[in-house]
Amino acid sequence: METMEEKHGGISVKTEHIFPVIKKWLYSEKEIFIREIVSNACDAVTKLKRLASLGEYEDKGDNYRIDVTLDEKLRTITVRDNGIGMSGEELEKYLCNIALSGALDFVEKYEGKGGGSGIIGHFGLGFYSSFMVSDKVEVVTRSYLGTPAVKWECGEDGDYTVSYPSGNFERGTSVIMHINDEGNEYLNLFNLRAALEKYCGFMPVEIYLHELGEDGKEKKKEEAEKPINDIHPLWTKPASECTDEEYKKFYSKVFDDYREPLFYLHINADYPLNYKGILYFPKMRDNFESVEGKIKLYYNQVFVADNIKEVIPEYLLMLRGVLDCPELPLNVSRSYLQNSGYVTKISQHIVRKVGDKLNSLFTGSRAEYEKMWDDIKTFVEYASVSDKKFFDRVNASVLFRTASGKYVTLAEYLGEDKASDDGKADANEAADTAKDAEPEATDKKTDGKTEEKKVYYVSDDKLQSALIQMYAERGIDVIVFDSVLDERYAQTVEAEKKGVRFVRIDADTSALHSDGEKLDDNELVKLFSSFAPEKLTVKTEPLFDPDTPALLTISEEERRMSDMMKLYMPDAPASPVSATLTLNSSCESIRKLANGDYGDDAILVAKYIYYTALISQRRLEGDEMKEFLAVSRDVIKKL
Ligand code: ADP
Repeated sequence: METMEEKHGGISVKTEHIFPVIKKWLYSEKEIFIREIVSNACDAVTKLKRLASLGEYEDKGDNYRIDVTLDEKLRTITVRDNGIGMSGEELEKYLCNIALSGALDFVEKYEGKGGGSGIIGHFGLGFYSSFMVSDKVEVVTRSYLGTPAVKWECGEDGDYTVSYPSGNFERGTSVIMHINDEGNEYLNLFNLRAALEKYCGFMPVEIYLHELGEDGKEKKKEEAEKPINDIHPLWTKPASECTDEEYKKFYSKVFDDYREPLFYLHINADYPLNYKGILYFPKMRDNFESVEGKIKLYYNQVFVADNIKEVIPEYLLMLRGVLDCPELPLNVSRSYLQNSGYVTKISQHIVRKVGDKLNSLFTGSRAEYEKMWDDIKTFVEYASVSDKKFFDRVNASVLFRTASGKYVTLAEYLGEDKASDDGKADANEAADTAKDAEPEATDKKTDGKTEEKKVYYVSDDKLQSALIQMYAERGIDVIVFDSVLDERYAQTVEAEKKGVRFVRIDADTSALHSDGEKLDDNELVKLFSSFAPEKLTVKTEPLFDPDTPALLTISEEERRMSDMMKLYMPDAPASPVSATLTLNSSCESIRKLANGDYGDDAILVAKYIYYTALISQRRLEGDEMKEFLAVSRDVIKKL
């Protein structure tokens, strides 16, 4: 039985250690005191509701709520709930005996390792986070069982007083925090509201915010009539009951984005994984550096943190959304999360769901999918190069844009989708061109083992437009890459799909050969070699287009290697790459050159041909421009 006398005590010798530690460690995250105190209030209400549902408490239409009151003059923030409350015994049990030994071990072990918020919550110390911003905390509480109200008062040194005040106290608990200088910012209504909205915006009990004026009376009463939180956030509803409009509204409210998301994904997993969430694909056309996603993690509607890399693979952080994982300890250390099997499973599940969503959009409406492709491409490619599982899941739904503006899958480009796509004539129109080109684009390797399937691409469609045109005339609609990520994605395809090779259109001329006449090219080779750089190989070949005298090619491997060097060592001098100049024996000027028709001007014509081939392959560098202009001037003089 409780005595009605005052009691004095010290939480324990050890609190002398824990108090400064809590303060020091949590200094950077001091705003979480709001979450801890309000979520305790919320739990108190939830417990009482549960008792009511079990018939252990008679609910007389109770209006369950939490009231947060700011008194700037008295420098207090009070959190009041009408939940389960505590008896004197319970209060001593719950608030005076913290599980110190465990917490102290933890502190000793992790001291200095950062991430101090891990101790809170993990050891049932949430309540004590109030001391990060208070020099004194009072708790006045009365149990739903009607035991006398009890008051607990504790200073920052950990010394407390328990007393039994007289007067009428309603059921529930008030936590009165006497704010110290560390907590000054929360004595401002705007800041307090912001912290409440951030951490408690979706808590399941209505929270009202009040501000008292100089006279101790409430200011702006009508504003306080509206709860600051939404107790039924959209993710808690079954997907079948949510409308498109609700998803969009929720997105713009939570992410403060006036643009509509491209699409969204509502996950409602219960067994064996228990979590809920909504993921949104924001528009990300610009480029991927500027993409700023945000995944908010909740624990039973209590906000925990943004962008937790330990729970969500980095590439998914390009998306936006909310995840509620009630099986995660509210505030555990990040190293715990990293090694948690539950976390790994959730993360894999999310990745699978995202992949499935993409696939269903792809098979659902091809036209719609193509329209959004440029916006989701960055994400899909980045996710695919980061995670082989994701690649495996979605690669059949990845599109490539061709030079003529069509969107094709790899299978369509390679003409491999005939069997499965009999009924989908329209989707394959785009692939027809590629199919025509297939015999050309596919080389049988001489060893007869692997059949190499070439995918022709271009990485600068303006610079290489002439070459694109030549491929188009051969029935090959080349693929256009417009970012380094496209190239990395292509390399991933090469690594994962046997026999597929991406070849930039200036890497070899084989697709452009005709069965025209060959030339005896000894003299020609000598002529070009007399001025061309050392690493240039000169050869002749009949090409389809009679108007192009020569093409300059650099092997795909060498070019990739040199691109990589440029990327990683931009200041190193470019090492010369070996190039091939293919002289077109179907072109009249080349034949004339071979016949000696240009007499003494042969060298000038040869140089002019070399530079024009160079210019259609890449930008001129160093002295090349000067030389090209000199050659051009001499050519004009001859006319
Ligand atoms: P945790 O909430 O992690 O258990 P806390 O230090 O935050 O740890 O709280 C300790 C205990 O004090 C709670 O488990 C609860 O029993 C009790 N408690 C705290 N706040 C309230 C409240 N507002 N109403 C009723 N009981 C409370």
